[in-house]
Amino acid sequence: MTRIFAVVMGLFLGFLLTVSHAGAAEIPAPVMVKVNDRIHALLGPMEMPTKQNQGYMVNSILLIGDTSAIVIDTGLSDEIGAMLARHYAKLTDKPIKYVINTHHHGDHTLGNAAFPGAKFLSSEICRQLMLEDGPTWVSILESINERKFPNTKVIPADTTYPKDSRTELTLAGIKMVFWVPEAAHTIGDMMIWLPDDEVLLAGDVLVNQVTPSFRDAKLKEWIQTLAEVQNLPINTIVPGHGPLMSKQQAAAMHQRMLSLYNDITAGVKQGLTDNEIRQKMDLGEWIKLHNFNEQMGNNINRAYLEIEADNF
Ligand SMILES: [Zn+2]
Repeated sequence: MTRIFAVVMGLFLGFLLTVSHAGAAEIPAPVMVKVNDRIHALLGPMEMPTKQNQGYMVNSILLIGDTSAIVIDTGLSDEIGAMLARHYAKLTDKPIKYVINTHHHGDHTLGNAAFPGAKFLSSEICRQLMLEDGPTWVSILESINERKFPNTKVIPADTTYPKDSRTELTLAGIKMVFWVPEAAHTIGDMMIWLPDDEVLLAGDVLVNQVTPSFRDAKLKEWIQTLAEVQNLPINTIVPGHGPLMSKQQAAAMHQRMLSLYNDITAGVKQGLTDNEIRQKMDLGEWIKLHNFNEQMGNNINRAYLEIEADNF
């Protein structure tokens, strides 16, 4: 009797395990956008990271070169990276020889392990911040998903580019300029400008229809960088999150950021608290963006601290 019970329980547990595994959320499918014959973007969801989307939110890009291919940004986990790699394998059979990370945030870098054999490129500071903050990003991933990710590894760049530089190079036969601003969304952003394609791969320096995150930002330098984007001869911008952008949309983001900065500066000079400033601000252009409620309070607080320190 006891043995039969044990066998039945065993079967039941096995059944439960199968059901719970089958019930695990699938990573949402990316929106595939062909920018031109050699540039393909996989656009991620615009919502905040959840157990349902498994933290998949990044835009990742494939550049198909002469004999090899390049991937820009890899997702929050090795599983997201592998999902992106499967999509890329349908678009090209050329090997992915290079992975470029636009900045250190986990949603852009923790999928690097899914591209074994690639050379990894980023700004110098991105490399440094990945080494410092990588483990924190892995714990963010694991707490969102309430499980371990033993194969998600922090893989920093082999080759790096210094702060405040523009480096012209040809990679896989594609002419590009690596633009590392003084600072912007982080202190280690790197954008990729493709002059022959008139395309800018902006990382989170530019985001479209979503609230940008000020978490690690330097607002003053970010606004300056956004002004400089207007001087580039480009037609299309692939932002870090959200749909493709025009230069006009980038100008609108610049204006939004600039007026927020000016409003807070005026408030700081009047001796107001961040809450008092928030009450007086017109956030009409911001409230239309995804994740406004989740991000904007923290953003205003971050901006206030930066501006207060600058005006001390
Ligand atoms: Zn970011």
